[in-house]
Amino acid sequence: MNRILIAEDEFRIASFLEKGLRANGFTTVVAPDAPEALAMAQSNDFDLLILDLGLPGKDGLQVLEELRGQGEQLPIIILTARDDISDKVAGLEGGADDYMTKPFRFEELLARVRLQLRKSHLPKGKEETVLMVGNVMLDLRTRRVRVNGELVELSAREFTLTEILLRHRGQVMSREQLLNHVWGYDYDPGSNIVDVYIGYLRKKLGGKLIETVRGMGYRFQA
Ligand code: CA
Repeated sequence: MNRILIAEDEFRIASFLEKGLRANGFTTVVAPDAPEALAMAQSNDFDLLILDLGLPGKDGLQVLEELRGQGEQLPIIILTARDDISDKVAGLEGGADDYMTKPFRFEELLARVRLQLRKSHLPKGKEETVLMVGNVMLDLRTRRVRVNGELVELSAREFTLTEILLRHRGQVMSREQLLNHVWGYDYDPGSNIVDVYIGYLRKKLGGKLIETVRGMGYRFQA
């Protein structure tokens, strides 16, 4: 139960969403306009719809209205640049399950997607609540980290970075992937912020856990 339909006409945002969601184990399809979004959302091939409002062909609110009018139960998260409260109210009253405004951070969207899938039809117990690798334990519900049983204070960013590295333990994660996941698509790709944060994590979690793979990125020891 992890197929996500992305109704989005802006290529850059659509591909950013696809990349991030796929890296987290989801299957994605992009519908670049309203008619396609409608047809695909009715196909029963998806578990969740991320819906832009400014779509070619029809307004996203109309897409929402038609889907709910037909009794379509698919969880829908509106993702839009419109931050007007009246749009938000219209979206939620029109049957959207959640409403997020652009610019957005991928980590937040991912959390909301997971929440909706849990609420709808993801079987209980499917979602991990604790990640353990070696002597590091991440509690995803309380967002607390323990190393050798000792609580370690991490900022929200440090926690998310640790979570992503742990989820992909044993794999090399590029700086770009980490930037996209933790800082969002509008972050300067030339920034060294990833390296700076890896430095913080090494200090807090222990120096040997995160390996530098030259020219490629970072890898959390499996
Ligand atoms: Ca749009």
